[in-house]
Amino acid sequence: MKLDYANPSQEPAHPCADFQGTAVSVNPSPPETADAARAEGPQLWFDGELVVADSLRAPLTTHALHYGSGVFEGIRSYATVDGGAAVFRLSEHLARMHKGAALLGIAFDIAEATQATLAVLRANQHRDAYVRPLTWCGTGSIGLDVASLTKHMMVATFPTGVHLTGGNVKLGVSSWRRNPATSLPPLKLCGAYVNSILAKAEAKANGFDEALFVDERGHVVECTGANVFMVKDGDIVAVEHADALPGITRDTLLELTRATSRTVTLEELRDADEVFVCGTAAEVTPIASLDGRRFDSDDVGREVARIYQRVVRGEDAQHRSWLTNV
Ligand code: PMP
Repeated sequence: MKLDYANPSQEPAHPCADFQGTAVSVNPSPPETADAARAEGPQLWFDGELVVADSLRAPLTTHALHYGSGVFEGIRSYATVDGGAAVFRLSEHLARMHKGAALLGIAFDIAEATQATLAVLRANQHRDAYVRPLTWCGTGSIGLDVASLTKHMMVATFPTGVHLTGGNVKLGVSSWRRNPATSLPPLKLCGAYVNSILAKAEAKANGFDEALFVDERGHVVECTGANVFMVKDGDIVAVEHADALPGITRDTLLELTRATSRTVTLEELRDADEVFVCGTAAEVTPIASLDGRRFDSDDVGREVARIYQRVVRGEDAQHRSWLTNV
């Protein structure tokens, strides 16, 4: 365990460990049985071991806290038809995280992250769960050169209820532009998400549930945390844009529906018969309205959502290879 994030009873090895008044502790004596572990509350993975989630405190000089110098993923595990649980497209999520980590000079071991994910799910006995790995730049300097900073990795899991799609989701066009890929690559870099936070806040303030990013040429980009699809005259179209995150759910739906992937204008989207969005957290969510204009139908979106649920829960033998058993 790195000292700057560790038990205060150890010798301070770092300026932030001098900070008085912040309890910085790693579970000092790990519970001996699984029951004892559960009694202590949820576990998470931190730098190579399972620890009680509430027992850790990051130093206030953590670089990622100041500059967003971290990379995260949003992954789901599902209770499967065979009575077990499986993580959906784990290797693709961790490959994307690896790309982001490499940009920040963070060594990211996919095999270790895979084991960490499975270990936390098992320790917490989570089946329908959201998995949040995060790797970040820790301490050592407050400058912008991250090379010499400590680097850390955690994986937390959160139970999810069965997600019911088809809610009355109201989408509004954002006045904010998406981070252009030429400035920030469309990866899950922590700092990049301030862009989504601004758009989400604006959408909520205007009475919408979610924001739609559109570029200066009037092309649809994506939502704050989901990719966009439309249905027109029976054809399913996946919105393609260089500034959008190449979503793993989007890729899944392209394979399942044989949709066409192409550039879509806002005008076309407004004129669509149906719009639905997709993402690991959103799964497949039909959109009720765009800037107040209601879509006629959500039939295709609901059907796609149903097919997606069969796949993630292991009911579709053809796509069982996308699942990693917990
Ligand atoms: N776009 C953004 C900005 C996102 O944060 C997400 C969620 N990761 C998505 C799209 C959907 O990606 P995925 O299907 O890989 O979860």
